[in-house]
Amino acid sequence: MSSPLIYENDPTYQMAVKQLKEAAAILGLPDDVVEVLRHPEKLVQVKIPVRLDNGKIAVFLGWRSQHNSALGPYKGGIRYHPSVTPGEVVALSMWMTWKNSLAGIPYGGGKGGVRVDPKKLSPRELEELSRKYFAAIAKDVGPDVDIPAPDVYTNPQTMAWYFDEYSKIVGYNAWGVVTAKPVDLGGLHAREVSTGFGVALTAREAAKKWIGGIEGKTVAVQGFGNVGRYAAYYLAQWGAKIVAVSDSKGGIYNPDGLNIEEVMKVKDETRTVINYKDAKRISNEELLELDVDILIPAAIENVITEKNAPRIKAKVISEGANGPTTPEADRILHDKGVVVVPDILANAGGVTMSWIEWSHNRMGCFLTDEEALNRLDKIMTNNFHRVFDEWQKKYSNYPMRVAAYVIAIDRVVRAMKLRGWI
Ligand code: NAD
Repeated sequence: MSSPLIYENDPTYQMAVKQLKEAAAILGLPDDVVEVLRHPEKLVQVKIPVRLDNGKIAVFLGWRSQHNSALGPYKGGIRYHPSVTPGEVVALSMWMTWKNSLAGIPYGGGKGGVRVDPKKLSPRELEELSRKYFAAIAKDVGPDVDIPAPDVYTNPQTMAWYFDEYSKIVGYNAWGVVTAKPVDLGGLHAREVSTGFGVALTAREAAKKWIGGIEGKTVAVQGFGNVGRYAAYYLAQWGAKIVAVSDSKGGIYNPDGLNIEEVMKVKDETRTVINYKDAKRISNEELLELDVDILIPAAIENVITEKNAPRIKAKVISEGANGPTTPEADRILHDKGVVVVPDILANAGGVTMSWIEWSHNRMGCFLTDEEALNRLDKIMTNNFHRVFDEWQKKYSNYPMRVAAYVIAIDRVVRAMKLRGWI
């Protein structure tokens, strides 16, 4: 036995490979093709020495995993976290390949990470770290090669530093090298709302298919951060009644409906939704089991499990968070007739808006918010129906998530065949 590669023992990577193998079995893919798909095309490790404010040098490690480029340049975020490992980065890059494929955008999958606790760095140290990391991977990225974006603890300011560093290296303004840039550097205002907007869109379309439309339907949203608040906002705009929302401090419930703009104000002013007056306090666990039509988990992973799935009453679930439903719970909900729109489909609004930003940067054009959101609406609505219809036609004895993976992987495999890679 040869010793394992640096990513092979990582539990996140092993989970990604398990999912790949399950979908491959349904598609009847041979083992050698699975072997091609389970490894990244390239994994870069870089050393990032940072001169700290106290004069000492601290060394951080960073990675960029480029999983698959059959459908286009690699695309995916960069995260800063003290527990980042190469295995996690490879797994996340594989998931980006499937997400981008399912979203129907011309991108492969990539992901980056730096093993650092950014809260322990001063703003100057953080800028030095960001610039040095990007300079170190500059030969491997580019508007036609690999286009990073923000992820955990990185943001539009980080993208501005990356963009500037890369532009200095290549000698021109390379607008298309990163997305989710600040608006003054070619980013889109609409990027901020895009993931929540997309989650709301998929809930709206699933409601049309499953429960006769969105108008007047009751909704509970777990998590009131970037994703949850805009999902709630747009669903309310389209006539749904948001009866419960929550954050890490707890939840609020009013069967007559919450005023979402008011809840946003309370959250911004007091940092939690629980200070909203016109509602009853509930726990995050109670929120998930409320008698509502639609449930939006938009906080953290593994909140819907085999324990609470039998008690969930919603008929439509649209996953804003990554991985909120365990595979066991997914199966229970499927058997109960609940549609769970999987994360890779429901929360693809951010990366799809990134593609809109990138393509307009490259044409030298700009878009208004309204134009950008209209485009996102068209793309995601079409995607939802394409995946939903194929699920119902070919894979309806599986949860929608399994069908989504199969459809996504199949598209990548077809591109690889056409290119003569397999
Ligand atoms: P965020 O930090 O802006 O908001 C997270 C929200 O969840 C906050 O309101 C927080 O109080 C709440 N929360 C934290 N722990 C909780 C708990 N135990 N119970 C209930 N609520 C809790 O984060 P975000 O950007 O909105 O991301 C939320 C989820 O969506 C994550 O899983 C993220 O990976 C996923 N996601 C985000 C994006 C994006 O563009 N922001 C894109 C795809 C997926």
